[in-house]
Amino acid sequence: MKKLTIALVAHDKRKVDMVEWAVHNDELLSKHQLVCTGTTGTLIRQAFENKGIPAEVTCMHSGPMGGDAEIAAMVVRKEIDLAIFLIDDLNPQPHEADIQMLLRQCRVHNIPIACNRYSADLMITSTLWDNDDYVPSDPKYVAFDREEFEKATQGGSC
Ligand code: PGA
Repeated sequence: MKKLTIALVAHDKRKVDMVEWAVHNDELLSKHQLVCTGTTGTLIRQAFENKGIPAEVTCMHSGPMGGDAEIAAMVVRKEIDLAIFLIDDLNPQPHEADIQMLLRQCRVHNIPIACNRYSADLMITSTLWDNDDYVPSDPKYVAFDREEFEKATQGGSC
């Protein structure tokens, strides 16, 4: 499989989930370059060291101190192939603005982003990474005339 740069970010209450997922996929992840927010990366590095798995882990700042923003900047520069972002959806975060920025930049720049383990499993096992014939289609922003649509469909509801 082609070597990817994978961003890994987990909020505090999702860190157990992230480390479990990373350890479960350690052999596969050790073939890629991992870029993490500070604490997430430290935990993953430790977990891999404990199992004797070699891993290329780069730690950015901690999330609340700008780590998500640094990873978002890498997304903008097309330096990230895939992001795994385990968000704590049940508790407010001090860096909500940065979280939204990272999510938005992944959408804008068409970078796959998994926000749960199921999506992460599907994405890291995709055969599309090595399919040279596959060209991801960029997001389209096309004007839509709702009034015209509603006129043509007499109200628009189906
Ligand atoms: P952390 O950051 O890995 O440094 O805890 C994650 C986050 O809260 O965005």
